[in-house]
Formats: sequence, structure tokens, C-alpha cells
Amino acid sequence: MSRTSWFGSIRRKGFWNCEINESTEMLRVDIITIFPGFFREVFDYGIIRRARAAKLVTVEAHDLRAWTSDKHHMVDDRPFGGGDGMVLKAEPIFAAVESLAGASRREDFPEGRRVVLLSPQGRTFNQSLATEFAACQQLVLICGRYEGVDERVAETLVTDEVSIGDYVLSGGEPAAIVVVDAAIRLLPGALGSETSATTESFSDGLLDYPHYTRPTDFGGLQVPEVLLTGHHAEIARWRREAALAKTKRNRPDLLKG
Ligand code: SAM
Repeated sequence: MSRTSWFGSIRRKGFWNCEINESTEMLRVDIITIFPGFFREVFDYGIIRRARAAKLVTVEAHDLRAWTSDKHHMVDDRPFGGGDGMVLKAEPIFAAVESLAGASRREDFPEGRRVVLLSPQGRTFNQSLATEFAACQQLVLICGRYEGVDERVAETLVTDEVSIGDYVLSGGEPAAIVVVDAAIRLLPGALGSETSATTESFSDGLLDYPHYTRPTDFGGLQVPEVLLTGHHAEIARWRREAALAKTKRNRPDLLKG
């Protein structure tokens, strides 16, 4: 069976063989999934689309079944010890990572490569981890399904086990989209303005300040007057206070550390 992948059109010549080009800052993202079609259009919009077009990043979704060796392309099997559901097998995942990232043990990955298992049991994804991922040369994301993934993947293969929050999804694909989106927008040049990422929520430990646009009066709801004055120092002060107030109200936990 030939390997199935999307986004082939933005792949550079020679890139397929996993030769990382040390001379560029480009991030390569490989997603391992049993549903590559899930990602067909999702990275075709807005900032992510522009970042891909500008060759800041390549994103490919790979069909895990391409790394099976049996004639039925089995990626899952019953859990040892009994219990409900199926478990994604270790062999094709190890083979996929070896083929995409050049190694199949976490200690053998060269610097700049992170192999991430999406899992509700992982450490919680946040802006700081997104920043680390954006600084990588290659990010390999493994999407689980069913009851999850054979634990030997978490034990010895991956560099990171990451959850996008304390809830259980049906599969790792939506989580992979979240991680990839958050990382790509932090790539230098991905946002319209170089400063925008540094003024967003979490960049300085606070939530973003509130934003308003026209009209100034929306059915009696007014834009704060200070924003209409053109007085930059006053506006900056107001925004800082408003960001602090919003953080206190919605995310007091951010102010504790
Ligand atoms: N049995 C697992 C448990 O209770 O921890 C849940 C498995 S879940 C139904 C199937 C797959 O969805 C997981 O292997 C993982 O890849 C993905 N997944 C579910 N919730 C997730 C989350 N909060 N963050 C990241 N991935 C998640």
C-alpha cells in the first residue's frame, strides 16, 4: 500500500526523505493518524494558510496504515487484560516515527525534533509549550483513537505526551489541530505584525486586553472613552488595567505564580 498524505503540493523536493534543512528556519510538521482526510482543509485558512504559502511551515498528515505489514493493514488490537474497546498497536507507530523522524527511541532524536503523543493523560498544552514547538525543526504528532495507544509509545518513543485539556476527545486529530495552529502562529513572520504575538493572552502572564471596533455606540453600549482620545500613554495604561481586571475575573490562577 502506498503511503497516503495530504499537502504534498507544498512539500519541497527531497524533503520526503526526512533530510532536515539546517539552513532554513522552516518548521516541518508530520501528523500520524488513521484519518488523514480529517486534515484535508483545516490548514487552508488564514494565518496557517499564509504561513504555509510563505514556506514557514510544511504540514503533512500520514496514514498510519501505510506502516502496517499485514495484509489487512491492522492498526489496532484488543487490550491485554481484557476490557472494552481497541488499542492502537505499537509496531506501526514506531515504524512511522522511525521513517518520518529517523529514530524510534526518544533519546536518539536529534535536537530540534519533538515527537508528541496527543493524550488526555499528558501534560496540559499551553502557550509556553507552543513556543517551544514553534522553535523546533520538526514536530511529529501522533493521534490516538479508540481506548488509546499501546503504552510503550509513551514509555519509550515520544519526547512529549500532551493533553489539550481535562476532557476526553474521540481522537487525537482535533488536539493535533490545536497544537499545530498555536505553534504555527508563533513562527517569526506568521502574523501580520511581528509584535502581535507578544501582546496576546498568556504572553506576559495576563489575558489580552479588551478590543472594540466601530460603532462607538452599539444600541447604547459604549466603547470606553479613553480609546477614542488618541492619547497613547493613557490608552496603554487603560489596557494594562483592563487586562489585569479580566485576568482576575476569568483566570485568577494565572496571577498566582
Ligand atoms: N482511554 C483514554 C483515557 O481515558 O485516557 C481515552 C482515549 S481517547 C477516547 C482516544 C484518543 O483521543 C487518545 O488516545 C488521544 O490521542 C485523543 N485524546 C482524547 N482526549 C484528548 C485530550 N484531552 N488531549 C489530547 N488528546 C486527546
